[in-house]
Amino acid sequence: VITKHGRDATRLLQILIDLQQALGYLPPAGISAVAAGLDLPRARVEGVAGFYSFLHLEPVGEYRILFSDNITDRMLGSLELRDALCRKLWVEQGKLSEDGLISIDVTSCTGMCDQGPAMLVNGLPITRVDHQRINEIAELVRTRVPLSAWPRAFFHVDDNIRRRDALLGQSFVSGSAIEAAIRLGRDQWIDEMRASRLRGRGGAGFTTCVKWEACRDAPGSDKVVVCNADEGEPGTFKDRVLLTRCADRVFEGMVLAAWATGANRGFMYLRGEYAYLRPALEAELARMRAAGLLGRTILGEAGFDFDIEIHLGAGAYVCGEESALIESLEGKRGTPRIRPPFPVTHGYLGRPTVVNNVETLTKTTLIALGGGAAFAATGTAQSTGTKLLSVSGDCAFPGIYEYPFGVRIDRVLEDCGAGDAHMVQVGGASGVTIAGYEFSRSIAFEDVPSAGAFMVFDSSRDPFDVAHNFVDFFTHESCGFCTPCRIGTSLLKGYMDKLARGYGAKKDLADIEWINRLLRNTSHCGLGSTAPNPVVDTLAKFRPAYERRLRTLDFEPAFDLDAALAAARRITGRDDPAAHLDSGDKQHTEG
Ligand code: SF4
Repeated sequence: VITKHGRDATRLLQILIDLQQALGYLPPAGISAVAAGLDLPRARVEGVAGFYSFLHLEPVGEYRILFSDNITDRMLGSLELRDALCRKLWVEQGKLSEDGLISIDVTSCTGMCDQGPAMLVNGLPITRVDHQRINEIAELVRTRVPLSAWPRAFFHVDDNIRRRDALLGQSFVSGSAIEAAIRLGRDQWIDEMRASRLRGRGGAGFTTCVKWEACRDAPGSDKVVVCNADEGEPGTFKDRVLLTRCADRVFEGMVLAAWATGANRGFMYLRGEYAYLRPALEAELARMRAAGLLGRTILGEAGFDFDIEIHLGAGAYVCGEESALIESLEGKRGTPRIRPPFPVTHGYLGRPTVVNNVETLTKTTLIALGGGAAFAATGTAQSTGTKLLSVSGDCAFPGIYEYPFGVRIDRVLEDCGAGDAHMVQVGGASGVTIAGYEFSRSIAFEDVPSAGAFMVFDSSRDPFDVAHNFVDFFTHESCGFCTPCRIGTSLLKGYMDKLARGYGAKKDLADIEWINRLLRNTSHCGLGSTAPNPVVDTLAKFRPAYERRLRTLDFEPAFDLDAALAAARRITGRDDPAAHLDSGDKQHTEG
């Protein structure tokens, strides 16, 4: 494995993924061999292996099943299905079965929210899981049928494109966008990008042209373009569909970025949950190389050399942050960097690097073909063009909807058949919670920004449960680098768990608000500073959902003290009133 990767330490993560593929997990001897082969300290290799949730330092089952744990999966019964499978196969969640055959656990959102409940079996997605499928899977595992012999239909993933606009409605001739940009010349191509006012579709909304120009103007000749295909925001799956349906346009967008910036090297960072797409993506890259759209002298243009490699992620949400993603690409733990300097000047291996989202890059092909002004004619003043929404939750028609920016939330709800919508989570766990009285607001950077998730909740759903699920998610995904986020998310989870158990006190709500402020103001990266969003929003807009969980207005312990003393009473043989804490202060004292 090490030789295959050229003994290159920047490929450490890819080496560990391949080694695990071969051995089932990463045994101590394997870690030592990798460290020796790459001439790295063993602690560095183990540190990387321990960072990513899809890498295992302990044995896992021959069949490793991970249930997607987004709130939309839970709403469709994922926890009951997980428990049913555990019971059928006699295994406890999170533990390896005694015979080493199976392990079952949960993982963060797998990007299949339009067709949940979903699971991954040895990395392959199975969607729309129900009790019948659970029975079939249990039987296949019990009889040790190899995954390659499981019915192919199990692994079918739908694209569910429900509404097309400028991008999804346009047919595309491969190579046409690159040809158009080369015809314009590098400077005029940048001018068209500037005129388009395209903003990043990954969430932050930074102007793409400004990023490209900064990279182009940065000193250094080895420049890099990275496609961020680490779509980890819960409820978001539009990049999955773009990578399935329009891989040619995604890669062509990377070539357009290279033409503008002068980059000669490209990476696609593909989230581990989408590893099943890799063979088709590699085939598309090979086709583009054969067609002269990648490699040396692209489309005969002297000096235009650019090629793309695919790197896999391994289950770390924080790697969606661009500097963490670059660290991961360099074979390290995905810890966000201190900025400045920014990646546009000091990115991959210190080289000027542009990181763009899948949808952003795809949109640049529209600009190359139709011009910047035409692109900017759609949408709103500060949000030009169209936006792909990943719609899921309580609606009749979940899937992908493309609208011009500025579309009202109630219009989306009407289109997706969400007649009883009570609340919408726009932009995923770190996004904005929208209450019914706000449904006239619009999806746009100047109103409700969104990386693409649009999760609908009807009146039967409890906003507290939604926020609780998101807090669990952030606690699990915090990379642990900075104290406010590492501790703050755990504290927040502790308070939410306490409320969920029915032991809340009014002071807990005040404490939650204090932790929210702490996380917002002192976290090192966006994960920590946006982690409180769902709690802040639901507390402000659905406060009764919290207040009905309060037991008293004063201090309330996080558990039932009297019940906790039951074992002590049993051992001492006492069960008189004085041995109970709820029998009055006098008796406590006497007891
Ligand atoms: Fe890591 Fe959280 Fe700190 Fe970001 S805010 S660096 S995710 S610990």
